[in-house]
Amino acid sequence: MLRLGRMRSLASAAAAATAAAVLSLTTVDSGSNGSLGTPPAALRFNALLRRAAGTWSAEAQSLDLRLGGGQLVLRPDAWTSWKLVRATAETPTTKRLVLEPIADPESGITVATSTPLEIPPISCVLFRATPGEPAGEPVVRPYNPISPRYTNGPLTFLVRQYPDGRMSNLLHDMRPGDTIQLKGPFEQYRFVEKDHANQQIVFIAGGTGLTPCLQLIHDLVERQREPEPEKRPSKLTLIFANNTEMEILLREELDEMAASSNGFLDIHYLVREAPLVPGPQLMQGIVSRRYLEERLPPPEQNPLIFVCGPPGMMELVSGPKTKDKKQGQLAGILRDLGYTESHVWKL
Ligand SMILES: Cc1cc2nc3c(=O)[nH]c(=O)nc-3n(C[C@H](O)[C@H](O)[C@H](O)COP(=O)(O)OP(=O)(O)OC[C@H]3O[C@@H](n4cnc5c(N)ncnc54)[C@H](O)[C@@H]3O)c2cc1C
Repeated sequence: MLRLGRMRSLASAAAAATAAAVLSLTTVDSGSNGSLGTPPAALRFNALLRRAAGTWSAEAQSLDLRLGGGQLVLRPDAWTSWKLVRATAETPTTKRLVLEPIADPESGITVATSTPLEIPPISCVLFRATPGEPAGEPVVRPYNPISPRYTNGPLTFLVRQYPDGRMSNLLHDMRPGDTIQLKGPFEQYRFVEKDHANQQIVFIAGGTGLTPCLQLIHDLVERQREPEPEKRPSKLTLIFANNTEMEILLREELDEMAASSNGFLDIHYLVREAPLVPGPQLMQGIVSRRYLEERLPPPEQNPLIFVCGPPGMMELVSGPKTKDKKQGQLAGILRDLGYTESHVWKL
């Protein structure tokens, strides 16, 4: 996997190349007889992007690298159209969806894969669909991308299907080439690394509640390998609860990340139904006071604990967020164990 520093330099190189390419196109156009040839800068730019796309992720290779107007393909202030590249079943109820941007004449935003996207960790993207167009009411729901922080366009999501779920069924029914509208990213928590130097960070996630946690875990594990790790959190612990072993999302990727982190990332799986091979890292049960007490740093060590999961789990562990999506009071097991609002963030 590519190191973050290298990603950053590729991102800024690509951004610089964008400016050069757009400038060069304008110059050639104004001086030409109307037929716009491909200027050398644009060729170099395409080559740079192709190289970057190939290195960043295999998913990026499917990108159509047309030059755009330099605008972002994902914006918090306007809907842009994205098309499904592929959908794969991750578990019996959850699909991995890979989407890429397409030109959108309605919003006037061109395909500008030339401007790399940054999805800050713990951010979500809004999805909008209008079933039964033109009569239907639009459905809007947030989802957390699990793509790397810096990407050249394709975004990957994990979406769980609910039996009566309007958006999740719509997304599970999408076929490659089908389109949907996206807006974002929107930060759910601003994580400033230097404010968490030497702090232990804990994630208590249930099901697809893993997705926002994964963004930050991935980013911090990558950064841990860079110089000056002493300015980073000292340790990450993920407690990941699911109904069955089969439903553990991205288990292979998570285990690989933990194995390559030199003890920086610790993962504990908890499943309701008896696992095939239980062990200290994979236990049967639900999150309980004793389970957390044995695995969490005590309040005196001042850890930061993120909680993200289905309503029942939130209720049990930290108490829910308020109706207007504010943090609300801390309740549940974490309060009983002596943690306060300053230790816990409900996602
Ligand atoms: C900030 C944020 C980020 C999110 N990120 C993701 C993500 O990355 N992946 C993902 O799959 N989901 C994510 N969600 C949940 C997602 O936004 C939708 O709520 C979910 O897909 C259900 O929407 P729906 O339209 O299918 O169901 P709705 O039509 O809204 O609900 C229909 C029925 O589905 C059931 N249902 C809906 N949501 C839940 C739930 N959470 N737990 C149990 N039952 C439920 C209920 O029975 C409900 O009555 C996120 C939510 C938030 C707030």
